[in-house]
Amino acid sequence: LFTVIKCRAAVAWEPNKPLVMEEIEVAPPGAHEIRIKVVATGLCHTDLYHLFESKKKEGFPAVLGHEGAGIVESVGPGVTKFKPGDKVIPLFISQCGECKFCRNPKTNLCEKGWSNERYDVMSDDMSSFTCKGKTILQFMGTSTFSEYTVVNEIAVAKIHDSAPLDKVCLLGCGISTGYGAAVNTAKVEPGSTCAVFGLGAVGLAAVMGCKAAGASRIIAVDINSDKFEKAKVFGATDFVNPTELSKPVSQVLAEMTNGGVDFALECVGNVGVMRSALESCTKGWGVSVLVGWTDMYDFSARPIQLITGRTWKGSLFGGFKSKDGVPKLVDEYMAQKLKLDDFITHTMPLHQINDAIELMKHGKCIRTILNVCPE
Ligand code: NAD
Ligand code: ZN
Repeated sequence: LFTVIKCRAAVAWEPNKPLVMEEIEVAPPGAHEIRIKVVATGLCHTDLYHLFESKKKEGFPAVLGHEGAGIVESVGPGVTKFKPGDKVIPLFISQCGECKFCRNPKTNLCEKGWSNERYDVMSDDMSSFTCKGKTILQFMGTSTFSEYTVVNEIAVAKIHDSAPLDKVCLLGCGISTGYGAAVNTAKVEPGSTCAVFGLGAVGLAAVMGCKAAGASRIIAVDINSDKFEKAKVFGATDFVNPTELSKPVSQVLAEMTNGGVDFALECVGNVGVMRSALESCTKGWGVSVLVGWTDMYDFSARPIQLITGRTWKGSLFGGFKSKDGVPKLVDEYMAQKLKLDDFITHTMPLHQINDAIELMKHGKCIRTILNVCPE
């Protein structure tokens, strides 16, 4: 049982290069760690951000992937709440339950995981992976583009025994993030008017959250009009492509809504769009939430935007405390209260990961599910 596993993984040796399928060694789980056989994983834009956009050389070589689901293969000393065979979702933000953040209901941050001050490299300096004699980093503490991975028990959610792992893996990131950004962070209100910028899985999940919260109007904004059809499925009522406008999108939204929307969610990861989203909100009470991921540029706006009553907020993993929230979201999906299947546009084996990356780069997919070790 406590042996090194040799398995296949997609390794990101360096930025801006295709991933390479390699045989890697996965160490046995240490104290409080769980070794997981990954069944399926989604590809999220944050994986692309690290690989192509962040311009940082640190954080490589790594195994990317943070939106997976799998089955416990073995547990290390001290693990009592998990056993081999359990269905689980690895979590990119931990919930130790004991730190000052975990004890405070106002936040879902946790002081114990990789993410505590490691956003620059997007991984811990500890890793259970080696390949060709080199340590391979575990991206966001999870690394789901591998047949096996090892995660600390504070960053693993145990889920329903009959959950379909090739669907609920999406709750490991994108869908929980967008949905929660609307219901938990923005706290969208019944009868309100919302705008969602960026209609990838995160933005579409935000649309779904706005609808679930009872918004009466949901304006979907994307530079790729191909995304509008899906947005309608999730509840969007109006569609705006900023590239087809002769005025700033914030002005157009203000005209459409008699002065601006109540809630605007940025799900792109672009500081210019973040500003537009804020400026699309009504004075007095408009709330804009940053969901898109970027750490490359400062963002800016005129102070009068906030002085006149708008609020600018950010949301990590949709504000859900990860270990508590994910199993509940899985149950909601199984009770057909939450859509997941509609986000899946492509399915392929892990070794075609570079094709999945190309699809996302070119806006041709919503989510691609990669089958890693099918159930
Ligand atoms: P995606 O690539 O599938 O979707 C992004 C969408 O934005 C695309 O439809 C694209 O056409 C659109 N877009 C690009 N530029 C635009 C512009 N100027 N105006 C309007 N729309 C524009 O990505 P995704 O997987 O849905 O992720 C979206 C963002 O959320 C990324 O930045 C990702 O890193 C981030 N993210 C954040 C968290 C978090 O916890 N905060 C978690 C997951 C992902
Ligand atoms: Zn993600």
